[in-house]
Amino acid sequence: MEELKAPGSHVATIEEFEPRGDYLIRDGEIITTTLSRVSYDRREKVVTITPLRRGSIKIGDVVMGKVVHVQGPFAFVDIYFVNGERFHSEMTGMVYISAERGSAPFNVGSMVRAKVILNNAGHLMLSISDDDLGVVEAYCSYCGGPLTRSYRGALRCQWCGKVHRFKVAPGFRPRRIMQERVTLE
Ligand SMILES: [Zn+2]
Repeated sequence: MEELKAPGSHVATIEEFEPRGDYLIRDGEIITTTLSRVSYDRREKVVTITPLRRGSIKIGDVVMGKVVHVQGPFAFVDIYFVNGERFHSEMTGMVYISAERGSAPFNVGSMVRAKVILNNAGHLMLSISDDDLGVVEAYCSYCGGPLTRSYRGALRCQWCGKVHRFKVAPGFRPRRIMQERVTLE
């Protein structure tokens, strides 16, 4: 039998099971230290507590995330994918916008592909300046309509026609794919 247990959860007593892995014992009680997969072997009377590996992010990793907020020259990006794999920890990175371009390279709600350029105790600085980085999905800032590629890499709103001069990544995806992605969330 296998269970997922939150940090500080009761696993068993030491009379019931011999614990293995990562745990605490308090008053004869086996307790998880972190979010863990707990597997009980009732025949051998052994319980194995394996912490779920939390993702880590290093400099040079390519992340995919959503721009959630812009404050002054900084944009905040909630990270969903790291090097193409779903990222399970909650983490937000920052893009220094005015270092990137004259005008805003994306808007709030854009999905962007970015590279990690600094990780200072978990505070991530991201860059979208490389050719393969930038906006991969976006909606119109004015009406919320779907944006599609227009002339010279600009994005045009399918509803109101306004043009957005974002920093567009080569893998920009039209809205059809965004809807699939949104249902995954
Ligand atoms: Zn529009």
